[in-house]
Amino acid sequence: MSEKTFFILWFAAIGALFGSFINAMAYRTIHKVSPVKTSRCEHCGQAIKPWDEIPIVSWFVLRGRCRHCKSRISASMLISEIGMAALYASGIFLFYRYVWALSIFLVFVTIAGYLAMTALKIMGNLSQKTGV
Ligand SMILES: [Zn+2]
Repeated sequence: MSEKTFFILWFAAIGALFGSFINAMAYRTIHKVSPVKTSRCEHCGQAIKPWDEIPIVSWFVLRGRCRHCKSRISASMLISEIGMAALYASGIFLFYRYVWALSIFLVFVTIAGYLAMTALKIMGNLSQKTGV
């Protein structure tokens, strides 16, 4: 495995973690939940165990459902994780050996991703309330 491939895989994993994080922060921004509280199922309120919070992997292991109440976990979780993994991987692919450009790119996509997830969740809330 080349050094560049190694970094691409690493950045994909870090991107997936950030994807999970920004999705949770977007949810908490809208529902006014403290950002430092432990994650809970939005349906049954059970605390989510750390091994059920592994980005991408846990979603497939649990088949997109809560371990306790079997309610559906929002697909936005998976989309956010895969999307950020892809963006981080493409960042290191494009800006390999350009640390400054890479840093700016990662900060930009992370903030843009957070804003996009927040906007999508607000739109989702609106469509639920208005039936549109
Ligand atoms: Zn639940």
